[in-house]
Amino acid sequence: MTTSATQCLLRMVEEQHALEDYQGGVPRWCNGCGDNAILAAVQRLCRDYDLAPEKTAFVSGIGCSSRFPHYMKTYGFHGIHGRALPIAEGVKMSRPDLHVFVNTGDGDCCSIGAAHWIHAVRYNMNLTLLLHDNHVYGLTKKQASPTSPIGMKSNTTPRGAWLEALNPLTVTLGVQNVSFVAQAVDWIPELLYDIFAAAYRHKGFSFVRIIQRCPEFLPKMFDPWLHDPQRTLLLMHENGVRIGAGTAKLYRNQREHDPSNLHLAREVASMEDPIPVGILYRNESVPCYEDIRHAGELHTSEQVRAGLEAEFDKYTIWPDKGTAGGEASAAVRG
Ligand code: SF4
Ligand code: MG
Repeated sequence: MTTSATQCLLRMVEEQHALEDYQGGVPRWCNGCGDNAILAAVQRLCRDYDLAPEKTAFVSGIGCSSRFPHYMKTYGFHGIHGRALPIAEGVKMSRPDLHVFVNTGDGDCCSIGAAHWIHAVRYNMNLTLLLHDNHVYGLTKKQASPTSPIGMKSNTTPRGAWLEALNPLTVTLGVQNVSFVAQAVDWIPELLYDIFAAAYRHKGFSFVRIIQRCPEFLPKMFDPWLHDPQRTLLLMHENGVRIGAGTAKLYRNQREHDPSNLHLAREVASMEDPIPVGILYRNESVPCYEDIRHAGELHTSEQVRAGLEAEFDKYTIWPDKGTAGGEASAAVRG
């Protein structure tokens, strides 16, 4: 019996994943937390690109945003502080066929995890990193983070932060092999989604900084930008993200920006007010580390087992065959 075209179509529709297929536990974030908008956009992205949940992994460090893997019905790894990237890189090296996302906060990525962040840019593995940047340590209740603006009062800086904030965009754009840098804000959902989609499609290390609201500890921090659309700068280009008519009408402060121009990307990245939103830089020609090193190909389970056996054999203490009963002495074979 032959299968009709209608039956094929019906089967395809049935097999397409729905939003619920990606929705894990109920988020415990505070009401109004920008992490909720990021989660909604990511789940939509997974549904629209029909990412197989069993072939998708979310890896995180420690912090409010790092609870992300619990809320996705995919594979996930809630790692240790600042170490989401090396875990994700390990996953990608052994399973390059997986879609790997990293969720990290400004404290997690830009402080304790800073060394991993810099080297992840240089290795340019095909990962999508979402930096939830709320300018504060939220989980541990309001300490200044590396991206806290100068003068910001917190539990560790009661008289205001003394140092200029670190700019994650300019830092990333200064590293060798940088291949994708974008910025989004949690309160423009259309662009949040489109930027995530562009980052996911990019082959290489996609670095997306999301300016994320923390109403619990910094309730008024982003009010000036929320109340005045002129303080958001939309980056427009045929090779950038698509900007819908409604968004373009509301956010009239716009600039043509060619994302292939690294010099201009660095210039735009240094702007803090207005906040630039869109793709700052994209270079598809940077090689991915997993391709250079043929990730996954050299590690069949038989090869891994043989390699482990060989290593263990080096340290096995064998009874000395020359001794009666083989008990009196032992030798290490190496
Ligand atoms: Fe979100 Fe801030 Fe609440 Fe953490 S403390 S869940 S970052 S609003
Ligand atoms: Mg934070």
